[in-house]
Amino acid sequence: MCHNIIDGRFHSTCGHFVGMSTRLQDCNRPDCLFSRRHEHPVGCKSHQCRRMMSLPVHNPIRLSDSLCGDCIIRNPLSRGC
Ligand SMILES: [Zn+2]
Ligand SMILES: [Zn+2]
Ligand SMILES: [Zn+2]
Repeated sequence: MCHNIIDGRFHSTCGHFVGMSTRLQDCNRPDCLFSRRHEHPVGCKSHQCRRMMSLPVHNPIRLSDSLCGDCIIRNPLSRGC
């Protein structure tokens, strides 16, 4: 099944992932609605065809040892040391 791959930054301190860009990984199956190889690009009525995408996959292209933006806002006391 097709799924989105989210490129982003992984913050090792808080364990959060911050996405920066999303791209579609095509499964190239003729029975998948999201694939470019889908057999019925217009008005697909086949019950065989998959209408769901798999869960997105996180692809950490950068690592950060600091807190993410959300955690810095939520924990103002954690700034600096
Ligand atoms: Zn697919
Ligand atoms: Zn179809
Ligand atoms: Zn965080």
